[in-house]
Amino acid sequence: MSLQGKTALVTGSTSGIGLGIALSLAKAGANLILNGFGDASAALVEVAKYGGKVGHHPADVADPAQIADMISYGRREFGGIDILVNNAGIQHVAPIEEFPVERWDSIIAINLSAVFHASRLVLPGMRARGWGRIINIASVHGLVGSVNKAAYVAAKHGVIGLTKVVALETASTNITCNALCPGWVLTPLVQQQIDQRALSDGDQDRARRELLAEKQPSLEFVSPDQLGELSLFLCSEAASQVRGAAWNVDGGWLAQ
Ligand code: NAD
Repeated sequence: MSLQGKTALVTGSTSGIGLGIALSLAKAGANLILNGFGDASAALVEVAKYGGKVGHHPADVADPAQIADMISYGRREFGGIDILVNNAGIQHVAPIEEFPVERWDSIIAINLSAVFHASRLVLPGMRARGWGRIINIASVHGLVGSVNKAAYVAAKHGVIGLTKVVALETASTNITCNALCPGWVLTPLVQQQIDQRALSDGDQDRARRELLAEKQPSLEFVSPDQLGELSLFLCSEAASQVRGAAWNVDGGWLAQ
């Protein structure tokens, strides 16, 4: 499948899942706008080797004004955004009584409100050009809960609700909106949780095995590449009637 001539914005694509998705879309010929914190130069080089136009916008997606600036940059420098992957996300793990209020606020802002802002701002351009794809990286935690993840689970459930509404509001157009719901993917976000579990004895292997065994029957991590290839499928004509789906990719987590 060719995405030649299309431009994709992947939020939070300087590492982890976002970078995996950006690479799959770039391989298929799309121009890429990367976003995320830290030094973006390695990600830019990796994505640029596929030959499309590549840029990075440093927006903090917790701030609606910076999201608006990033969408304007896409319009100005790339002629518009055809594929939006709402991927940026953070995690904090604590029981609800001890959950820091400011962490709640930032998880809701980054994992949920940013999806609303980016979607509302790209849709007019997609409607004008008559084609678009919005892919929201939710989580199995958009469909089930786990202890100590109040803000994350609430935000991800919200993302799946928002995905359905956007899918309905665009149902009679060539724009689709879907969510992917990964189980455990070994990225910096999950490595922090493994580090927390390994604090007692420093045994990373044990911590990794136990993390998987609790939830993910395959006992293997999902890879960013696999999520990239699925995103590519959602951009295809074959997926044009996949609308409002919450597609779990979770090694069997939700089958239990
Ligand atoms: P990660 O920590 O590797 O990457 C997160 C990316 O988001 C980074 O590029 C970071 O710079 C960026 N980011 C963080 N806060 C930002 C902000 N305020 N503004 C702009 N960019 C910001 O995490 P990941 O595991 O790749 O997670 C990506 C998405 O996948 C998240 O939405 C996460 O909830 C979801 N997810 C992850 C897993 C998993 O097991 N890793 C499972 C299910 C869902």
